[in-house]
Amino acid sequence: MAERVIVIGAGIVGIQSAHALARRGLCVTVVERAPAPAMLCSRANAGVVSIGHAEAWAGPDAPRTLLRAALGRDPGIKVSRWADPALIRWGLDFLRNCSAEAHDANSARLTRLCLYSRDRLPVVAQEAGLSDLLRHDGALYLLPDRAAVEAWQHAHSQTSETGMSLLSPSEIVTKDPALAPIAARFAGALFSPHDSVGDCHRFATGLGAHLGTLDHVDLRYETELDHIEREGGRIIGIRAGGERIAADHVILATGVETPKLTRPLGFVPRIYPVKGYSGSWRLRDPARAPTLPYLDEAARLAVSSYSGILRITAMAEFAGGDDSLPEARLSVLKDYVARHFADLVDLEDVTFWTGSRPTTPASAPYLGRVRRFGNLWINAGHGALGWTASAGSAELLAKAITREERDCRDVSAQARWLDPL
Ligand SMILES: Cc1cc2nc3c(=O)[nH]c(=O)nc-3n(C[C@H](O)[C@H](O)[C@H](O)COP(=O)(O)OP(=O)(O)OC[C@H]3O[C@@H](n4cnc5c(N)ncnc54)[C@H](O)[C@@H]3O)c2cc1C
Repeated sequence: MAERVIVIGAGIVGIQSAHALARRGLCVTVVERAPAPAMLCSRANAGVVSIGHAEAWAGPDAPRTLLRAALGRDPGIKVSRWADPALIRWGLDFLRNCSAEAHDANSARLTRLCLYSRDRLPVVAQEAGLSDLLRHDGALYLLPDRAAVEAWQHAHSQTSETGMSLLSPSEIVTKDPALAPIAARFAGALFSPHDSVGDCHRFATGLGAHLGTLDHVDLRYETELDHIEREGGRIIGIRAGGERIAADHVILATGVETPKLTRPLGFVPRIYPVKGYSGSWRLRDPARAPTLPYLDEAARLAVSSYSGILRITAMAEFAGGDDSLPEARLSVLKDYVARHFADLVDLEDVTFWTGSRPTTPASAPYLGRVRRFGNLWINAGHGALGWTASAGSAELLAKAITREERDCRDVSAQARWLDPL
């Protein structure tokens, strides 16, 4: 009989995990407390499969950036809940990851995982009939001034694995004519050829629908995990929605909720909710929208278009899981659209959203087996790159569970309680 695996969480990471296991013939049960996949952090993100941002946040410059944020002088980073003990513990771990050595090791892990994932995503899309939701034309990272251009040139004097190249303002327009009205405001851009873009929510929903057609997959929405049952050093199943479900393996793909769920088992992953915002404006004429997603590095804000909308995302706010939509934050998004895209959208036809990135101090996710249990697995903590890294994380985890040879290694954040992949 095929092994039985329970995946807790049907965000993009959980639904990809379920797919990677189901395609190998395992019996998969997905337990999700929301009525559908991707209703939490995977709901309305920027949708960029962002190889160009596969870099750890913690590094030698990060303490200065955080100090600037603390003084309210950074447009994209805010700290609004200082006295949060979880943030203090997370912050101390973050500082430990700020050496040049730790930054390089963490960034290398992220880059490996994201490149691997980027190659997996089209395969998953094809299997589930979702290829139309993705575009694989690269992305632009717009640089505000000469100093930013020179800093990048200095940091990348050797050829980089990510294949990024520097473009002048006129070359930006050649890449994407829709950016002609704004290109001259920038000193240049990095073009990241391996980036893709697509609607993460629609992809997760589509993958869920595909899984729903398979006899060996049981999708249980509106079902909350109560607790994980163990016997000695093994997990034997879970209780969810008042029912007991037996399992040979359990995967936690529960994003920011993971620390709360594992505390009773004696370990707490360092995952902090880092809040972000998006606004999605209906496009009057999608053919005139930018085709390449771009990140405005000065404003710390991303712009993408798909599914008939123009989406602007911004902000990394340390707010302890708060999910309010304060006007002061939304006005950043509104002002940007009014300044750059007033002729493309109806300014009043907009949906705002907030989500909390499940962020580790190392930026890489926790991916692997929990040391004290032979069959409890973690796939959580993907921070700002969960959509980017989801297909690869899922594939590597499935290979580990089925004891297949893994074609990519050393991709996880390190922790005492984890056997990392
Ligand atoms: C503004 C913004 C922009 C972003 N842009 C990008 C981008 O362009 N590219 C990119 O790669 N990433 C981006 N991200 C990050 C990305 O959205 C996240 O990394 C990703 O969504 C995390 O997915 P997840 O499945 O781990 O978590 P989630 O999507 O939060 O899923 C976790 C799931 O677990 C379920 N769950 C939790 N507890 C329980 C329980 N007890 N029982 C049952 N179910 C439970 C939840 O209901 C939820 O559905 C962005 C994030 C934000 C906020």
